[in-house]
Amino acid sequence: MTHSAEVFERAQKVIPGGVNSPVRAFGSVGGTPPYLVAGKGAHVTDADGNEYVDLVGSWGPMILGHAHPDVIDAVKSAADHSLSFGASHEGEVELAELVTSMIAPLEQMRMVNSGTEATMSAIRLARGFTGRDVIVKFAGCYHGHVDSLLAEAGSGLATFALPGSAGVTEGTAKDTVVLPYNDREAVRELFAARGSEIAAIITEAAPCNTGVLTPGTEDGIGFNRFLAETAHAAGALLISDEVLTGFRASATGYYGVDGEGWAPDLMTFGKVIGGGMPVGAFGGRKEIMDLLAPNGPVYQAGTLSGNPLATAAGLTTLRALDADVHAAVARASEAIQAGVREALTAAGVPHAINNAGTLFSVFFRDGEVTNHEQAKQQNVEAFGRFFHSMLDSGIYLPPSAYEAWFVSAQHDDAIVNRILEALPAAAKAAA
Ligand code: PLP
Repeated sequence: MTHSAEVFERAQKVIPGGVNSPVRAFGSVGGTPPYLVAGKGAHVTDADGNEYVDLVGSWGPMILGHAHPDVIDAVKSAADHSLSFGASHEGEVELAELVTSMIAPLEQMRMVNSGTEATMSAIRLARGFTGRDVIVKFAGCYHGHVDSLLAEAGSGLATFALPGSAGVTEGTAKDTVVLPYNDREAVRELFAARGSEIAAIITEAAPCNTGVLTPGTEDGIGFNRFLAETAHAAGALLISDEVLTGFRASATGYYGVDGEGWAPDLMTFGKVIGGGMPVGAFGGRKEIMDLLAPNGPVYQAGTLSGNPLATAAGLTTLRALDADVHAAVARASEAIQAGVREALTAAGVPHAINNAGTLFSVFFRDGEVTNHEQAKQQNVEAFGRFFHSMLDSGIYLPPSAYEAWFVSAQHDDAIVNRILEALPAAAKAAA
């Protein structure tokens, strides 16, 4: 028995499902998750000494690769001063200054400890600002495990075939309306019927949690802009969730891809802005952010919010994200997509690849995938065989068919070639 398998057995006795987040359990692909002991650059190593090329990247944060020396130094030096003050320090101001200077619609932001907290706080704020209750979300979009946002919430739930979560009260669920992604008619109809009740639309800037869905364009107007205009016409807000896409889909997130001529009211961030430490943030127009306590009546707080280690890791990561980093991520992302397409085509495996900026995912089905219903119509067994063949070749993919693949700036040509070499056998296994 491998050491990973032994630890997984122990884990299942003391941790539900053996994991602290469901998709880590390899539930839909089967087998034992490797227990990781180290990460360096584009690689991770497990407790049995196996080294893998990592395409999970902690589900997004590790855009600079693991153990980037500047990030590690910044965290060590912050730790030398204090692990946590629970009081104000300059690092949190510097991070807010940097993020608001990079992301045009943000005049102010507040830090929290996870993407979940960011979306939870943003919808509370939207309700406080508008005095309305209803939140609109899209099937397949995941905004963290906030009660009211768990309906049709994409990857984790889709992996385990759950439509929503037990334990969410009817009272909570009734204020969430779920619509199909990219369906403008459904949005128009809802606003015509209930516009005055709607506090906000929340959407992933580009959905990446049912696999990647590209926001559609009609008559030159992108889906996000359409949502902003529809919400604003009814006095509602648009919350753009960039927890996953922020500082990754492009230098300024997915807003950098389609944010010309319009703006969301609130935005949420996480992952990259914490450089691998637990972080989230939400922000937007000052007029709205001013409603937060201590200035206003919307309460929101956190013992560890703005933690000095997290802000040090985030600041150092964002400062290192120059054009070269994004170019390296784009190069690797394109080469891997081309390689996957070639290998799956050669093996006769039906597939579709979607992208959003440098983010991409592979669906094991053919035809267009523009919404969650289509994303769910894929051959997850074929993905499972593909996944395990890649793992056997030393390539660690996200263990679910509904996830983006995460590339870092450390995925250089040699590492991409290792991935490309593993693909033909994996494609054959999937066929
Ligand atoms: N929003 C999006 C778009 C996400 O992808 C995620 C996590 O994957 C979250 C929110 C929740 O973030 P966290 O897992 O940090 O709570």
